[in-house]
Amino acid sequence: MSDTRIRSWKDKILFTPGPLTTSQAVKLAMLRDLGSRDFEFIESIKDIRRRLLQIGGVTPSEYTAIPMQGSGTFGLEAVVSSVMPADGKLLVVRNGAYGKRLAQIATVLKVPTVELVVPEDKKPAAEDVAATLDKDPGITHVAMVHCETTTGLINPVLAVGEVIAKRSRQFIVDAMSSFGAVPIDLAKAHVDYLVSSANKCIEGVPGFSFVVAKLGSLKATAGLARSVSLDIYAQWRGLEENGQFRFTPPTHSLLAFRQALVELEEEGGVEARAARYRANYETLVAGMREMGFEEYLSPHDQGYIITSFRFPAHPRFSFERFYKALNERGYVIYPGKVSDADCFRIGSIGRIFPNDVRDLLGAIREALAELGVEPRTWQAQ
Ligand SMILES: *Cc1c(COP(=O)(O)O)cnc(C)c1O
Repeated sequence: MSDTRIRSWKDKILFTPGPLTTSQAVKLAMLRDLGSRDFEFIESIKDIRRRLLQIGGVTPSEYTAIPMQGSGTFGLEAVVSSVMPADGKLLVVRNGAYGKRLAQIATVLKVPTVELVVPEDKKPAAEDVAATLDKDPGITHVAMVHCETTTGLINPVLAVGEVIAKRSRQFIVDAMSSFGAVPIDLAKAHVDYLVSSANKCIEGVPGFSFVVAKLGSLKATAGLARSVSLDIYAQWRGLEENGQFRFTPPTHSLLAFRQALVELEEEGGVEARAARYRANYETLVAGMREMGFEEYLSPHDQGYIITSFRFPAHPRFSFERFYKALNERGYVIYPGKVSDADCFRIGSIGRIFPNDVRDLLGAIREALAELGVEPRTWQAQ
């Protein structure tokens, strides 16, 4: 395939929670064959790790960034399997499918696990986390999702982190769909381990996840890992010693990620990215409401990363046909994951702009017409 063909490539636009639409420069950064022990590649890893700490607002004296092969779930599994001591107990604060997955990871690993289950349309209260910890002194670690991608709700990491630290427990945060676009001060939120991945708000391509770990906590986990490949302590030691991954790294994906990090900086950092995603979200919600769609969450709880919309209660609406009609027009949306309501999801993240959202809204009008669903003629379910 010639370069011209790649440059004129026009993929469908992804309004999903990831993988996402990426810039052309991110895709082009992959057209290299670098050896994993190559000096230039090692420098790239170093630069990536440095930039990740910057995004988290922390310094290398307090925190370290550890890339890990595999998708986001592999990163979560790596943390839970690497940092929970044999006599540890995990509290999972859960208000959606991704919180549920955290508990599943711990249970499969035979880590004693308790859950604080909160309705999917509600934020957990820091006082409830505090009460759960006070009742059960055996709990050593707490895990919570930052942006619960099921609904798009942003959980109160700062408030929860404070009550956890006050009780000397450790805090694991799944920031998969928020890191890079929702400001978070890791030190202030007392986060011990934050996990995110390459192909969400940083706008890289899939291939690896990464952990931003508090050094003091990480150093105490030597020998705790229940897995060879997913051992984050060993991965960190390896990176510190020779700058290399222990096992074959996703070289192309890392090169794309470095370019994505440069673009994040050029855009103006986390605040500027947040502003673009918020503009996408506001454009989306205004247009959807105008057609009669209703969000699953109340606007007060809704974040700007991804939005769950209720199916229209119209006899001619079918999600499969709606999805297909949009797909044929070049737009990819996402099925719902809320457990107690029929919803679909539309993401505001990736290399997309308010103009792309306006185009999507036009395609949604056309799709509704194709289905025979008149806008504003239904009650949301
Ligand atoms: C995307 C996501 C994950 C991980 O998904 P992978 O498919 O394994 O990359 C985990 N948690 C949340 C909150 C997510 O949004």
